[in-house]
Amino acid sequence: MQNISLLGSTGSIGTQTLDVARNLGIRVTALSAHSNVRLLEQQCREFKPDVVCIGEEKYNEFKLAVNDLGLKILCGDEGVVEIASDDRSETLVNAVLGMKGLLPTIAAAERGKRIAFANKETLVAGGKLVTDAVKRGNATLLPVDSEHSAIFQCIQGKNKIKRIWLTGSGGPFFGKDRGFLKDVTPEMAVKHPKWSMGKKISVDSASLMNKGLELIEAVHLFDVEPEQVQVVIHPQSIVHSLVEFEDNAVLAQMGMPDMRVCIQYALTYPDRAPSQAESLDLFGKDLEFRRYDGDAFPLLELAKRAIKTGGNLPAIMNGANEEAVAQFLDHKIGFTKMFELVIDACEGASAVPVIQNPTLEDILASDKSAREYVLSRI
Ligand code: NDP
Ligand code: MG
Repeated sequence: MQNISLLGSTGSIGTQTLDVARNLGIRVTALSAHSNVRLLEQQCREFKPDVVCIGEEKYNEFKLAVNDLGLKILCGDEGVVEIASDDRSETLVNAVLGMKGLLPTIAAAERGKRIAFANKETLVAGGKLVTDAVKRGNATLLPVDSEHSAIFQCIQGKNKIKRIWLTGSGGPFFGKDRGFLKDVTPEMAVKHPKWSMGKKISVDSASLMNKGLELIEAVHLFDVEPEQVQVVIHPQSIVHSLVEFEDNAVLAQMGMPDMRVCIQYALTYPDRAPSQAESLDLFGKDLEFRRYDGDAFPLLELAKRAIKTGGNLPAIMNGANEEAVAQFLDHKIGFTKMFELVIDACEGASAVPVIQNPTLEDILASDKSAREYVLSRI
């Protein structure tokens, strides 16, 4: 089994990755987190990595806490990039939250690593920059997101994809109208019916922006046109996505909703290993597939337009969304105000300008401008 480095070790995906590592006896050579000193300390004591990184503000406190362990301790964005390129591991698990994952992903790709990839915002914002770096470095991107893991498992024969059915549970507000959505609170939005996840992705799931981000993620990961990705609401979260091939045969990947299966497959690929997930019992399960309401949930439609336009527009959309979600979680704006701000950042009268063929600097600048635009409207 390969050694792994893990970015975002204290988060929802990060802690489940360590669960898988513990279960399979995988050696963890590096860990990185941002603010959670206590949990990162515990993880260091258990997994004994060689190197660890924490956010700058927590550096001194963390250093004191693990003084006895003789670890190499890094901090801040540069530290995360150093961990991503560290040669002690062949595999990087990127479970960082948001666009912050872009530079470390490019660094790991240029080193030719296997990248078990959960960090969708990075692929949405920096799509072509990431896929180019992967080709340059002869790296491998292995999807962790459950839908993309499902698609990846369905295309192992390398058949030509005709259509991807990207499933989504619909989130906590499926079937509700705009009037209802206006009064939704952060506490309501983070209660996902099927998955227990970090707060940001829970809000994205509730607004269906998560499906928009995933649609763009699928376009980059599987080299398909946006029109080939069909979103379908599947409230039971048993079918994790489906692929239709040129002969109209459709393959689905199914199982109980448990991210550890997806994380594990990215780590053991092309092999499989026993997992901690519950086994699926099909008896008594009714599986439904429904259309979503694009009027009530306009961010998914926005994401489709953004990827069709391309250039830096997905990065603008992602940056505006990351900021809008943070403001919503902070009770500064309402749920449907997020829709308005993200759409205006992309398409309004004073929207951030669109550039085709953006450089890395253009992407970083677009992300910053989109965040500033959202803040200027609060
Ligand atoms: P969490 O919020 O639970 O965890 C985020 C992790 O990133 C934490 O370890 C956090 O550190 C760290 N982090 C946050 N900000 C920074 C920063 N500025 N620099 C470095 N590290 C930082 O998120 P999730 O685990 O839910 O999601 C992680 C990624 O995986 C996201 O891109 C998400 O879309 C994707 N994903 C998640 C799924 C899930 O089930 N949760 C499913 C599919 C995809 P700390 O806690 O110490 O502050
Ligand atoms: Mg997903």
